[in-house]
Amino acid sequence: MPSLASRLSVIKPSATIAISDRAAALRAQGIDVISFGVGEPDFPTPAHIREAAKAAIDKGATKYTRVRGIAPLITAIQDDCEKRRGVRPGADEIVCSVGAKHTLYNLAVALFEPGDEVIIPAPYWVSYPEQVLLVGATPKIVETREEDGFLLRPDALEKAIGPKTKGLVLCSPSNPTGGAYSEEKLRAIAAVLAKHPNVWVIVDEIYAQLVYGGFQQRSLLSIAPELRDRLVIVDGASKTYAMTGWRMGWMIAPKALCDACEMVQSQSTTNPTSFVQHATIAALQGDKAELDAMVREFEARRDLMVSGLNGVPGITCRVPEGAFYAFPSVKGLLGKKTADGTVLADDVAVASWMLEEAKSAVVPGSAFGAPGYVRLSYATSRELISSGVARIAAAVKTLR
Ligand code: PLP
Repeated sequence: MPSLASRLSVIKPSATIAISDRAAALRAQGIDVISFGVGEPDFPTPAHIREAAKAAIDKGATKYTRVRGIAPLITAIQDDCEKRRGVRPGADEIVCSVGAKHTLYNLAVALFEPGDEVIIPAPYWVSYPEQVLLVGATPKIVETREEDGFLLRPDALEKAIGPKTKGLVLCSPSNPTGGAYSEEKLRAIAAVLAKHPNVWVIVDEIYAQLVYGGFQQRSLLSIAPELRDRLVIVDGASKTYAMTGWRMGWMIAPKALCDACEMVQSQSTTNPTSFVQHATIAALQGDKAELDAMVREFEARRDLMVSGLNGVPGITCRVPEGAFYAFPSVKGLLGKKTADGTVLADDVAVASWMLEEAKSAVVPGSAFGAPGYVRLSYATSRELISSGVARIAAAVKTLR
Protein backbone atom coordinates (compact mmCIF):
# COMPACT_ATOMS: atom_id res chain seq x y z
CA MET A 1 0.00 0.00 0.00
CA PRO A 2 1.35 3.51 -0.73
CA SER A 3 2.08 5.48 2.45
CA LEU A 4 -0.37 7.62 4.43
CA ALA A 5 0.26 11.29 5.18
CA SER A 6 2.83 11.80 7.92
CA ARG A 7 0.57 14.25 9.78
CA LEU A 8 -1.45 11.27 10.98
CA SER A 9 1.46 10.14 13.11
CA VAL A 10 0.93 13.05 15.53
CA ILE A 11 -2.71 12.35 16.37
CA LYS A 12 -4.61 9.54 18.02
CA PRO A 13 -8.17 8.24 17.77
CA SER A 14 -10.73 9.51 20.26
CA ALA A 15 -10.39 7.62 23.57
CA THR A 16 -14.03 8.17 24.42
CA ILE A 17 -15.13 6.51 21.20
CA ALA A 18 -12.68 3.66 21.92
CA ILE A 19 -14.29 3.00 25.33
CA SER A 20 -17.80 3.04 23.85
CA ASP A 21 -16.64 0.55 21.20
CA ARG A 22 -15.12 -1.77 23.84
CA ALA A 23 -18.32 -1.62 25.94
CA ALA A 24 -20.40 -2.34 22.80
CA ALA A 25 -18.17 -5.32 21.98
CA LEU A 26 -18.70 -6.77 25.49
CA ARG A 27 -22.43 -6.17 25.18
CA ALA A 28 -22.44 -7.99 21.84
CA GLN A 29 -21.04 -11.00 23.73
CA GLY A 30 -24.10 -10.89 25.96
CA ILE A 31 -22.29 -9.23 28.90
CA ASP A 32 -24.40 -6.66 30.74
CA VAL A 33 -22.20 -3.55 30.66
CA ILE A 34 -23.38 -0.19 31.97
CA SER A 35 -21.94 2.56 29.83
CA PHE A 36 -20.88 5.79 31.48
CA GLY A 37 -18.71 6.52 28.47
CA VAL A 38 -21.09 8.30 26.17
CA GLY A 39 -21.18 12.02 25.61
CA GLU A 40 -24.72 12.43 24.40
CA PRO A 41 -28.13 12.96 25.99
CA ASP A 42 -30.11 9.72 26.20
CA PHE A 43 -33.35 11.64 25.53
CA PRO A 44 -34.95 11.47 22.09
CA THR A 45 -34.81 14.58 19.91
CA PRO A 46 -38.04 16.49 20.76
CA ALA A 47 -40.95 15.73 18.41
CA HIS A 48 -41.37 19.27 17.06
CA ILE A 49 -37.77 19.22 15.86
CA ARG A 50 -38.20 15.87 14.13
CA GLU A 51 -41.43 17.08 12.53
CA ALA A 52 -39.72 20.21 11.23
CA ALA A 53 -37.07 18.08 9.51
CA LYS A 54 -39.71 15.86 7.89
CA ALA A 55 -41.71 18.87 6.72
CA ALA A 56 -38.57 20.48 5.30
CA ILE A 57 -37.77 17.35 3.30
CA ASP A 58 -41.33 17.20 1.96
CA LYS A 59 -41.17 20.85 0.98
CA GLY A 60 -38.02 20.20 -1.05
CA ALA A 61 -35.34 21.54 1.29
CA THR A 62 -33.01 18.87 0.00
CA LYS A 63 -30.58 20.90 -2.10
CA TYR A 64 -27.31 22.72 -1.48
CA THR A 65 -27.70 25.86 0.59
CA ARG A 66 -25.49 28.83 1.33
CA VAL A 67 -22.27 27.48 2.86
CA ARG A 68 -22.67 29.25 6.23
CA GLY A 69 -26.36 28.38 6.57
CA ILE A 70 -29.72 29.66 5.34
CA ALA A 71 -30.78 33.19 6.31
CA PRO A 72 -33.65 32.14 8.66
CA LEU A 73 -31.26 29.90 10.61
CA ILE A 74 -28.75 32.72 10.93
CA THR A 75 -31.56 34.96 12.20
CA ALA A 76 -32.66 32.29 14.70
CA ILE A 77 -29.08 32.08 16.01
CA GLN A 78 -28.87 35.88 16.27
CA ASP A 79 -32.11 35.88 18.29
CA ASP A 80 -30.97 33.00 20.48
CA CYS A 81 -27.61 34.66 21.15
CA GLU A 82 -29.26 37.96 22.02
CA LYS A 83 -31.67 36.25 24.40
CA ARG A 84 -29.05 34.17 26.17
CA ARG A 85 -25.99 36.41 26.07
CA GLY A 86 -27.53 39.85 25.76
CA VAL A 87 -25.51 40.60 22.62
CA ARG A 88 -26.86 40.42 19.09
CA PRO A 89 -24.17 39.35 16.63
CA GLY A 90 -24.39 40.52 13.03
CA ALA A 91 -25.67 38.10 10.41
CA ASP A 92 -22.15 38.11 8.95
CA GLU A 93 -20.71 37.08 12.33
CA ILE A 94 -22.17 33.56 12.29
CA VAL A 95 -21.16 30.40 10.41
CA CYS A 96 -22.99 27.07 10.76
CA SER A 97 -21.12 23.82 10.29
CA VAL A 98 -21.56 20.06 10.52
CA GLY A 99 -21.41 19.98 14.33
CA ALA A 100 -19.37 22.07 16.77
CA LYS A 101 -16.48 19.68 16.24
CA HIS A 102 -16.46 20.75 12.60
CA THR A 103 -16.66 24.40 13.65
CA LEU A 104 -13.57 23.88 15.80
CA TYR A 105 -11.79 22.10 12.98
CA ASN A 106 -12.52 24.97 10.56
CA LEU A 107 -11.12 27.33 13.18
CA ALA A 108 -7.94 25.29 13.57
CA VAL A 109 -7.40 25.34 9.81
CA ALA A 110 -8.17 29.05 9.51
CA LEU A 111 -6.14 30.23 12.52
CA PHE A 112 -3.26 27.94 13.44
CA GLU A 113 -0.10 26.84 11.66
CA PRO A 114 3.34 25.40 12.41
CA GLY A 115 5.14 27.57 14.95
CA ASP A 116 1.93 28.63 16.70
CA GLU A 117 1.10 27.61 20.24
CA VAL A 118 -2.47 27.17 21.40
CA ILE A 119 -3.13 27.21 25.13
CA ILE A 120 -5.47 24.44 26.25
CA PRO A 121 -6.24 23.99 29.96
CA ALA A 122 -6.25 20.38 31.15
CA PRO A 123 -8.48 18.47 31.73
CA TYR A 124 -9.50 19.18 28.12
CA TRP A 125 -11.97 17.80 25.63
CA VAL A 126 -10.07 15.21 23.61
CA SER A 127 -10.37 16.88 20.21
CA TYR A 128 -8.86 20.28 21.07
CA PRO A 129 -5.19 19.21 21.13
CA GLU A 130 -5.64 16.71 18.30
CA GLN A 131 -7.09 19.32 15.95
CA VAL A 132 -4.28 21.74 16.79
CA LEU A 133 -1.75 18.98 16.07
CA LEU A 134 -3.46 18.08 12.79
CA VAL A 135 -2.82 21.55 11.41
CA GLY A 136 0.83 21.42 12.50
CA ALA A 137 0.55 23.80 15.47
CA THR A 138 1.51 23.01 19.07
CA PRO A 139 -0.96 22.58 21.94
CA LYS A 140 0.35 24.19 25.12
CA ILE A 141 -1.34 22.25 27.88
CA VAL A 142 -1.78 24.15 31.13
CA GLU A 143 -2.79 22.10 34.14
CA THR A 144 -5.62 23.21 36.38
CA ARG A 145 -6.36 22.04 39.90
CA GLU A 146 -9.33 20.23 41.31
CA GLU A 147 -9.49 22.72 44.20
CA ASP A 148 -9.91 25.52 41.61
CA GLY A 149 -12.86 23.66 40.10
CA PHE A 150 -10.55 22.55 37.26
CA LEU A 151 -10.65 26.13 35.96
CA LEU A 152 -7.74 28.01 34.44
CA ARG A 153 -6.26 30.46 36.92
CA PRO A 154 -5.45 33.92 35.58
CA ASP A 155 -1.86 33.70 36.85
CA ALA A 156 -1.39 30.33 35.10
CA LEU A 157 -2.74 31.86 31.89
CA GLU A 158 -0.41 34.84 32.18
CA LYS A 159 2.54 32.53 32.69
CA ALA A 160 1.60 30.35 29.71
CA ILE A 161 1.26 33.18 27.20
CA GLY A 162 4.43 33.72 25.19
CA PRO A 163 5.50 35.16 21.85
CA LYS A 164 4.25 32.10 19.97
CA THR A 165 0.80 32.04 21.58
CA LYS A 166 -1.85 32.32 18.88
CA GLY A 167 -4.90 31.08 20.71
CA LEU A 168 -6.61 29.95 23.89
CA VAL A 169 -9.39 27.36 24.00
CA LEU A 170 -11.76 27.43 26.97
CA CYS A 171 -14.74 25.16 27.53
CA SER A 172 -17.46 26.23 29.96
CA PRO A 173 -19.18 24.20 31.28
CA SER A 174 -16.41 21.75 30.61
CA ASN A 175 -16.24 18.34 29.14
CA PRO A 176 -14.83 16.37 30.98
CA THR A 177 -15.04 18.09 34.40
CA GLY A 178 -18.40 19.88 34.36
CA GLY A 179 -16.58 22.90 35.83
CA ALA A 180 -17.85 26.29 34.65
CA TYR A 181 -16.51 29.84 34.89
CA SER A 182 -18.50 32.32 36.96
CA GLU A 183 -18.70 35.93 35.82
CA GLU A 184 -15.97 36.87 38.27
CA LYS A 185 -13.66 34.13 36.96
CA LEU A 186 -14.34 35.14 33.35
CA ARG A 187 -13.56 38.77 34.16
CA ALA A 188 -10.23 37.75 35.67
CA ILE A 189 -9.36 35.74 32.54
CA ALA A 190 -10.46 38.63 30.32
CA ALA A 191 -8.20 41.03 32.25
CA VAL A 192 -5.17 38.89 31.40
CA LEU A 193 -6.21 38.50 27.76
CA ALA A 194 -6.68 42.25 27.38
CA LYS A 195 -2.90 42.58 27.74
CA HIS A 196 -2.26 40.17 24.86
CA PRO A 197 -4.05 41.42 21.75
CA ASN A 198 -2.54 38.80 19.41
CA VAL A 199 -4.26 35.87 21.09
CA TRP A 200 -7.48 34.45 19.63
CA VAL A 201 -9.93 33.44 22.34
CA ILE A 202 -12.14 30.46 21.54
CA VAL A 203 -14.82 29.60 24.08
CA ASP A 204 -16.71 26.37 23.58
CA GLU A 205 -20.17 26.96 25.10
CA ILE A 206 -21.81 23.82 23.76
CA TYR A 207 -22.98 22.87 27.28
CA ALA A 208 -23.99 26.41 28.28
CA GLN A 209 -27.66 25.57 28.78
CA LEU A 210 -26.94 22.49 30.86
CA VAL A 211 -26.13 24.10 34.22
CA TYR A 212 -27.51 23.22 37.63
CA GLY A 213 -28.11 24.34 41.16
CA GLY A 214 -28.76 27.93 40.15
CA PHE A 215 -25.31 28.38 38.59
CA GLN A 216 -25.32 31.62 36.58
CA GLN A 217 -23.87 30.81 33.18
CA ARG A 218 -22.15 33.85 31.64
CA SER A 219 -20.30 34.42 28.40
CA LEU A 220 -17.20 36.43 27.55
CA LEU A 221 -19.26 37.76 24.65
CA SER A 222 -21.40 39.76 27.04
CA ILE A 223 -18.88 40.62 29.72
CA ALA A 224 -15.72 41.36 27.72
CA PRO A 225 -16.61 43.61 24.76
CA GLU A 226 -12.95 44.60 24.58
CA LEU A 227 -12.15 41.08 23.32
CA ARG A 228 -14.80 41.14 20.63
CA ASP A 229 -12.43 41.45 17.63
CA ARG A 230 -10.73 38.15 18.55
CA LEU A 231 -13.40 36.26 20.45
CA VAL A 232 -15.05 33.15 19.06
CA ILE A 233 -18.04 31.50 20.73
CA VAL A 234 -18.66 27.90 19.68
CA ASP A 235 -22.17 26.54 20.14
CA GLY A 236 -24.39 23.83 18.70
CA ALA A 237 -27.58 21.82 18.79
CA SER A 238 -26.16 18.42 19.82
CA LYS A 239 -26.22 18.61 23.60
CA THR A 240 -28.97 21.16 24.25
CA TYR A 241 -31.61 19.63 22.01
CA ALA A 242 -30.52 15.97 22.08
CA MET A 243 -29.48 16.27 18.43
CA THR A 244 -26.03 14.67 18.42
CA GLY A 245 -26.59 12.64 15.26
CA TRP A 246 -28.01 15.53 13.27
CA ARG A 247 -24.67 17.36 13.15
CA MET A 248 -25.24 21.05 13.61
CA GLY A 249 -22.85 23.51 15.24
CA TRP A 250 -22.03 27.16 14.75
CA MET A 251 -19.75 29.93 15.80
CA ILE A 252 -20.15 33.58 16.61
CA ALA A 253 -16.98 35.39 15.59
CA PRO A 254 -15.66 38.54 13.89
CA LYS A 255 -16.74 38.87 10.24
CA ALA A 256 -13.26 38.38 8.78
CA LEU A 257 -12.84 35.08 10.62
CA CYS A 258 -16.34 33.97 9.61
CA ASP A 259 -15.46 34.68 5.96
CA ALA A 260 -12.25 32.66 6.35
CA CYS A 261 -14.02 29.69 7.95
CA GLU A 262 -16.73 29.82 5.32
CA MET A 263 -14.02 29.61 2.66
CA VAL A 264 -12.41 26.61 4.39
CA GLN A 265 -15.81 24.94 4.71
CA SER A 266 -16.67 25.70 1.07
CA GLN A 267 -13.76 23.46 0.11
CA SER A 268 -14.77 20.58 2.37
CA THR A 269 -18.39 19.95 3.35
CA THR A 270 -20.16 22.96 1.76
CA ASN A 271 -23.31 23.56 3.86
CA PRO A 272 -24.52 21.65 6.91
CA THR A 273 -27.36 19.34 5.84
CA SER A 274 -30.22 21.37 4.37
CA PHE A 275 -33.15 19.95 6.35
CA VAL A 276 -31.13 19.83 9.58
CA GLN A 277 -30.89 23.60 9.27
CA HIS A 278 -34.70 23.78 9.26
CA ALA A 279 -34.88 21.40 12.23
CA THR A 280 -32.43 23.63 14.11
CA ILE A 281 -34.64 26.68 13.53
CA ALA A 282 -37.46 24.71 15.15
CA ALA A 283 -35.17 23.78 18.04
CA LEU A 284 -34.09 27.38 18.63
CA GLN A 285 -37.54 28.91 18.27
CA GLY A 286 -39.74 26.14 19.63
CA ASP A 287 -41.11 25.23 23.00
CA LYS A 288 -38.37 24.74 25.62
CA ALA A 289 -40.42 22.54 27.96
CA GLU A 290 -38.54 19.37 27.02
CA LEU A 291 -35.20 21.14 27.40
CA ASP A 292 -36.21 22.34 30.87
CA ALA A 293 -37.32 18.84 31.85
CA MET A 294 -34.06 17.40 30.55
CA VAL A 295 -32.02 19.89 32.57
CA ARG A 296 -33.98 19.06 35.74
CA GLU A 297 -33.43 15.36 35.16
CA PHE A 298 -29.69 15.86 34.55
CA GLU A 299 -29.45 17.77 37.82
CA ALA A 300 -31.10 14.93 39.75
CA ARG A 301 -28.80 12.42 38.08
CA ARG A 302 -25.75 14.55 38.83
CA ASP A 303 -26.66 14.61 42.51
CA LEU A 304 -27.32 10.87 42.55
CA MET A 305 -24.05 10.04 40.83
CA VAL A 306 -21.84 12.42 42.77
CA SER A 307 -23.20 11.38 46.17
CA GLY A 308 -22.95 7.71 45.19
CA LEU A 309 -19.33 8.08 44.08
CA ASN A 310 -18.40 10.01 47.20
CA GLY A 311 -19.70 7.07 49.23
CA VAL A 312 -17.08 4.75 47.71
CA PRO A 313 -13.83 4.58 49.71
CA GLY A 314 -10.91 5.71 47.53
CA ILE A 315 -13.07 7.82 45.21
CA THR A 316 -13.82 11.52 45.67
CA CYS A 317 -15.91 13.63 43.36
CA ARG A 318 -16.50 17.40 43.26
CA VAL A 319 -19.96 18.62 42.35
CA PRO A 320 -19.86 19.82 38.73
CA GLU A 321 -21.73 22.99 37.78
CA GLY A 322 -22.84 21.81 34.36
CA ALA A 323 -22.61 19.50 31.31
CA PHE A 324 -23.38 15.83 32.11
CA TYR A 325 -20.13 14.44 33.42
CA ALA A 326 -18.76 13.55 36.83
CA PHE A 327 -14.97 13.63 37.04
CA PRO A 328 -13.97 11.83 40.24
CA SER A 329 -10.46 11.32 41.50
CA VAL A 330 -9.52 7.66 41.76
CA LYS A 331 -6.12 8.44 43.26
CA GLY A 332 -7.21 6.63 46.42
CA LEU A 333 -7.46 3.38 44.45
CA LEU A 334 -4.02 3.57 42.88
CA GLY A 335 -1.54 1.01 44.14
CA LYS A 336 -4.28 -1.34 45.34
CA LYS A 337 -4.37 -4.95 44.21
CA THR A 338 -7.28 -6.57 42.39
CA ALA A 339 -8.54 -10.04 43.30
CA ASP A 340 -6.24 -11.59 40.68
CA GLY A 341 -3.21 -9.73 42.02
CA THR A 342 -2.97 -6.98 39.37
CA VAL A 343 -1.85 -3.63 40.77
CA LEU A 344 -4.03 -0.66 39.78
CA ALA A 345 -1.10 1.43 38.66
CA ASP A 346 -2.93 4.33 37.02
CA ASP A 347 -6.32 5.62 35.88
CA VAL A 348 -6.13 3.58 32.67
CA ALA A 349 -5.78 0.41 34.77
CA VAL A 350 -8.65 1.57 37.01
CA ALA A 351 -10.91 2.18 33.99
CA SER A 352 -10.21 -1.18 32.42
CA TRP A 353 -10.62 -2.92 35.79
CA MET A 354 -13.99 -1.13 36.27
CA LEU A 355 -15.06 -2.39 32.86
CA GLU A 356 -14.00 -5.97 33.46
CA GLU A 357 -14.84 -6.23 37.19
CA ALA A 358 -17.76 -3.81 37.70
CA LYS A 359 -19.01 -4.09 34.12
CA SER A 360 -19.12 -0.30 34.07
CA ALA A 361 -17.53 1.65 31.24
CA VAL A 362 -15.76 4.86 32.31
CA VAL A 363 -13.14 6.90 30.47
CA PRO A 364 -9.66 7.25 32.00
CA GLY A 365 -8.77 10.84 32.90
CA SER A 366 -5.45 10.61 31.07
CA ALA A 367 -7.43 10.72 27.80
CA PHE A 368 -8.30 14.29 28.86
CA GLY A 369 -4.81 15.13 30.09
CA ALA A 370 -5.74 14.41 33.73
CA PRO A 371 -4.23 11.19 35.10
CA GLY A 372 -5.67 10.01 38.40
CA TYR A 373 -9.27 10.73 37.41
CA VAL A 374 -12.01 9.00 35.42
CA ARG A 375 -14.98 10.50 33.61
CA LEU A 376 -18.48 9.14 33.99
CA SER A 377 -21.32 10.50 31.90
CA TYR A 378 -24.65 10.77 33.72
CA ALA A 379 -26.57 10.99 30.47
CA THR A 380 -28.12 7.69 31.39
CA SER A 381 -31.06 6.63 33.56
CA ARG A 382 -31.13 6.96 37.36
CA GLU A 383 -31.57 3.17 37.61
CA LEU A 384 -28.39 2.57 35.63
CA ILE A 385 -26.51 5.23 37.59
CA SER A 386 -27.53 3.58 40.88
CA SER A 387 -26.64 0.08 39.77
CA GLY A 388 -23.39 1.15 38.09
CA VAL A 389 -22.21 3.00 41.20
CA ALA A 390 -23.26 0.01 43.36
CA ARG A 391 -21.24 -2.29 41.12
CA ILE A 392 -18.21 -0.03 41.38
CA ALA A 393 -18.61 0.09 45.17
CA ALA A 394 -18.84 -3.71 45.34
CA ALA A 395 -15.78 -4.09 43.11
CA VAL A 396 -13.78 -1.63 45.23
CA LYS A 397 -14.52 -3.79 48.32
CA THR A 398 -12.62 -6.65 46.66
CA LEU A 399 -9.43 -4.58 46.36
CA ARG A 400 -6.55 -5.18 48.73
N1 PLP B 1 -17.26 20.51 22.34
C1 PLP B 1 -17.35 19.72 23.41
C2 PLP B 1 -16.79 20.19 24.70
C3 PLP B 1 -17.96 18.47 23.32
O1 PLP B 1 -18.05 17.69 24.42
C4 PLP B 1 -18.46 18.03 22.08
C5 PLP B 1 -19.05 16.68 21.93
O2 PLP B 1 -18.76 15.76 22.64
C6 PLP B 1 -18.35 18.89 20.99
C7 PLP B 1 -17.76 20.13 21.15
C8 PLP B 1 -18.83 18.51 19.63
O3 PLP B 1 -20.17 18.55 19.49
P1 PLP B 1 -20.89 18.38 18.09
O4 PLP B 1 -21.77 17.18 18.24
O5 PLP B 1 -21.65 19.63 17.86
O6 PLP B 1 -19.83 18.19 17.05
